[in-house]
Amino acid sequence: MPEPLAGGGGVRAARTPLPPDVLLELDRRHVWHPYGPMPGRQQPLVVESAAGVRLRLAAPAEGRTELIDGMSSWWSAIHGYQHPVLDEAVREQLSRMSHVMFGGLTHEPAVRLAARLVEITPEPLRHVFLADSGSVSVEVAVKMCLQYWRSLGRPGKQRLLTWRGGYHGDTWQPMSVCDPDGGMHQLWSGVLQRQVFADAPPPGFDAPADPAYAGHLRELIGRHADELAAVVVEPVVQGAGGMSFHSPEYLRVLREACDEHDVLLVFDEIATGFGRTGQLFAAGHAGVAPDVMCVGKALTGGYLTMAAALCTSRVAEGISRGEVPVLAHGPTFMGNPLAAAVACASIDLLLDQDWAQQVKRIESGLREGLAGAAGLPGVRDVRVLGAIGVLQLDHEVDMAAATRAAVRAGVWLRPFRDLVYAMPPYVTGDEDLARICAGLLGAAAAG
Ligand SMILES: *Cc1c(COP(=O)(O)O)cnc(C)c1O
Repeated sequence: MPEPLAGGGGVRAARTPLPPDVLLELDRRHVWHPYGPMPGRQQPLVVESAAGVRLRLAAPAEGRTELIDGMSSWWSAIHGYQHPVLDEAVREQLSRMSHVMFGGLTHEPAVRLAARLVEITPEPLRHVFLADSGSVSVEVAVKMCLQYWRSLGRPGKQRLLTWRGGYHGDTWQPMSVCDPDGGMHQLWSGVLQRQVFADAPPPGFDAPADPAYAGHLRELIGRHADELAAVVVEPVVQGAGGMSFHSPEYLRVLREACDEHDVLLVFDEIATGFGRTGQLFAAGHAGVAPDVMCVGKALTGGYLTMAAALCTSRVAEGISRGEVPVLAHGPTFMGNPLAAAVACASIDLLLDQDWAQQVKRIESGLREGLAGAAGLPGVRDVRVLGAIGVLQLDHEVDMAAATRAAVRAGVWLRPFRDLVYAMPPYVTGDEDLARICAGLLGAAAAG
């Protein structure tokens, strides 16, 4: 039983909104936030509603009641909030059913979504596993790869290779391929699966590929081939692991080396998918296709949680030839109709417009707005690719001060480590984009 809050009364009178101070106190006492302590120490902002690219706050912060969202709610809300088309898709599906189990039953939203994903992803990806979050889709991708080799009578192939600086989620297999320094490897040493780590890819999307690094990748894959089930990487952009970009050429190197040494290749496109880097999927920059690919985040336009692991017929047929000829995974909320319906609507909405032009417009706006940042004290690097703008500082950012400065500028940002960055919704107008850039500069100066 929670202790009653002074003046707060119970929480059951749901019709009357909780006063902001009561809400925050309950939040602090009872609710975990991402990577947060318990009880909470930093006071989150209370969002009352969101529309377009704006978050509306329940109480003013730094004099602002509305913030332009520079984060797309962690890469997901590419069309902004309360989009009429997406709202309608959810409402329409709600009038039929919110959910039914996926074992022994199927339904149009899930089938349509799977077929659509096969249509828009690289050609050899044919089969779709709908998962309920990005991390789970990575778990499933890894399970597919391990099971494939088991089925082929090579159970020794069960390790993964990745490059440093990555992020693949917070459950166990994904954690094991997150960056060993920035991730939680130290905390979990002895518990996490020990994977094979290559050096981080040399930075720079446009930088010419470094033959020595390509050789390093080839050598490691060759050396560990007998124990490797798969190489797992984020193509072109490493997101939460450090917001760094690399040459697409390294993806071609991975593809070749994986083919040569009988190792599967997994691309985690959870952050990069659906246009964020300027290609519909980042693999498109390299013109290579993986054996397994994960998508998530923007899949539902940020409306509901859903992700997918897609694989080739070779992988699916391999699994099906095994002693256990099924993919042994089946979440309760697999294929959730509401999420699938809004995902279909979000994909259509994206592809029915000149999305590449929109992303290019945002790229230009970010380049222009951040051009002056390169000379600022404390700023080590400025980089922009597609609808992603990053200021890397020469010190750990003071998150509270940087966030406050962004809010003062009327912008919502979530800096981490030495990074202040934005990945705005594609519908962000030019003026709002300029304000996001001002928010980034303000946050970098304050943090
Ligand atoms: C966010 C992210 C994940 C994890 O997705 P969740 O939905 O948070 O579990 C995995 N990989 C990448 C590249 C991501 O950006």
